[in-house]
Amino acid sequence: MRDVSLWRNLLGIEKTVLERVVFDEDAQVLVAHVRPVARQRGRCGRCQRRSPQYDGGPGRRRWRALDLGTIRAELEADTPRVRCREHGVVVAAVPWARHDAGHTYAFDDQVAWLATPGLEVHSD
Ligand SMILES: [Zn+2]
Repeated sequence: MRDVSLWRNLLGIEKTVLERVVFDEDAQVLVAHVRPVARQRGRCGRCQRRSPQYDGGPGRRRWRALDLGTIRAELEADTPRVRCREHGVVVAAVPWARHDAGHTYAFDDQVAWLATPGLEVHSD
């Protein structure tokens, strides 16, 4: 796919393979289909330890990503499970979001920035 690095920057994702980007007309959402790069696959979602694959997990899911202007954006990926020595069967880690989070790291960062105390807009 062309312009992959541009999409990566817009979506704020790293260590992630961007498979394709589609626009969901009904939901008015841009959906980026992704998967972790090989080195990031097969890791426990809680401790990041490399663990054997357990099964395909509950299927595809989506994470809220940074908006692109006025367009809402989401990442969509498979959710395989691994068997961690310490944590048992857990959904594998993904490089774009915290375990069990419904949004990406980049989305978190932006919300944190917007919520920073003392941030004022001057109009003089
Ligand atoms: Zn673990």
